[in-house]
Amino acid sequence: PLRCHTSNEQLLTSITKRLTNWDMEGFTKVKDAAIYKAILSHLRKRNAPTIFRKAVRSQNQRAYDGANELAFGAAVNTDGTELKISPSMQVLVRGACALHTRLLGAYHHSIKEQNVPEPRPATKRMIEKVQNEISPVLKKKPQPEAIWKSIRDTDISRRARNFMWTALHGAHKVGKYWKHIPGYEERATCSDCGATEDLEHILLHCKRPWCRLIWDIAKDLWPKTMTMVIGQNPLWGSY
Ligand SMILES: [Zn+2]
Repeated sequence: PLRCHTSNEQLLTSITKRLTNWDMEGFTKVKDAAIYKAILSHLRKRNAPTIFRKAVRSQNQRAYDGANELAFGAAVNTDGTELKISPSMQVLVRGACALHTRLLGAYHHSIKEQNVPEPRPATKRMIEKVQNEISPVLKKKPQPEAIWKSIRDTDISRRARNFMWTALHGAHKVGKYWKHIPGYEERATCSDCGATEDLEHILLHCKRPWCRLIWDIAKDLWPKTMTMVIGQNPLWGSY
């Protein structure tokens, strides 16, 4: 895991508590949206966990001061070039990643990308899957923006919205996520079917009886008009 320590409480709260909601709401009215978008895009590209903590100077003074110095260096280095870190400075900051520096680094990166971070490959794949599977039902291909907007509908409970948002990013900790985590590799595979236990397998294809059962119960709960969308088999975009 990557451990990020910051002394800035507001930043800590923004990243750990608000970032995903801001993203769901389209970053409207968020100050420094470009920086936060870039941070989010960096975090999503990571496979291993990222841990954020409050930095306390008294606990590791050398790392704290070293990180501050790096952040200051990055702040004055505004031409967007790579930040040079001397070997002695690397020793100072080892174990304590200065979020200020990451922030500025991410900011420079986002300027290079004209503030439009590319969607993660997993997100792109999921959006394409939804588009392809729902197109024959809707008789038109929904644009990605329409799909994102549809899951922000406040008629849907917040928990369900969060679930769908995470699913669309392919960010649930299932299937391939576990493949490269030593000691947890077996979690990648369904113990009943032997297939990769990704969300699609869990929700749609698993042979375990409760997979089918849940959909049958769900069909009973949905209004009759929904059968047109759901049809006989559940598909991406219908849940
Ligand atoms: Zn299975």
